[in-house]
Amino acid sequence: MVKLGRGLERVNKKAERILGSLLEENYNSVPFLFLGEYLLPELPEVETVVRDLRPLLMGQSIGGVLAGKKKLRSGKIGRWILTLEGDQFSAVRRRGKWIILELASGRCLLVHLGMTGQLKVMNAREGVESHTHLRMELAGVEKELRYRDIRRFGWLELFASAEELASYFCSMKLGLEPWEASPEYFQEKLQNSQRPVKNLLLDQEILAGVGNIYADESLFESRLHPRKKGKSLSREDVEKLLKAVQRVLTRAISHRGSTLRNYVGGTGLKGGFQNEFQVYGREGEACPVCSKAVERIVLAGRSAHYCPICQPSPKGRS
Ligand SMILES: [Zn+2]
Repeated sequence: MVKLGRGLERVNKKAERILGSLLEENYNSVPFLFLGEYLLPELPEVETVVRDLRPLLMGQSIGGVLAGKKKLRSGKIGRWILTLEGDQFSAVRRRGKWIILELASGRCLLVHLGMTGQLKVMNAREGVESHTHLRMELAGVEKELRYRDIRRFGWLELFASAEELASYFCSMKLGLEPWEASPEYFQEKLQNSQRPVKNLLLDQEILAGVGNIYADESLFESRLHPRKKGKSLSREDVEKLLKAVQRVLTRAISHRGSTLRNYVGGTGLKGGFQNEFQVYGREGEACPVCSKAVERIVLAGRSAHYCPICQPSPKGRS
């Protein structure tokens, strides 16, 4: 693995200064590297979209389809999109940070929101917002499923069957959903690793769906320092951490996820968990438990926020 040293930390600090002063309309001009810190949405946001969309899409037939010509991360939306006309939504579900729209024909439309993707059902008469790349009419209800994405890092792809989609997830070695993982599974993945526990939480091959926000919050909740190595965690630590991940994600879902910039649920409503953060993004502010200032370090190019008292550093390092 390439080591990114202090240079990147400086870049990130500069990025945060730049981002702090950015207005929404300038957002597109920010280089990708600077936005690495702000990758959203994570599992709770995607789950909220899925829960919002499910009752609105289930059983609905697809009428006309309109797709833009601009490239997403998955490339231009191909002519295959037109073959969806007349098909019907039969299930809406989530795997990791992916949204799966199952169709009555057996095909599956896979959607990843990237950084700024929004997948929402709107009234067909409502004005079409800029950066809308796909409109799918829901036959007979005067509503449309729309995909909007300012940065266009989103992903749209059609799979011929659920089996084909399952083997795609298999090929990317996507780890277990946090609630499906047992302490034994989690310990097996962590116990031989020299990597910091923060990085292990972000590894989608271990647990699917956890990103920077919820990794920091879970480490705080389990009182573990983000730099602690996987192999130094006791069985008790591993169990505590897994429970903390599950609790934090559940709480975040109950608040409809976190809106830092563009994320909205499947009906256009923002999330509210950003008001509940204990340490994430709170560098220099008082720890809610001990009042010591929250600190921030950079691990593998990502910010990690923690309390130096509640999350004691391994071997006296901070
Ligand atoms: Zn504290």
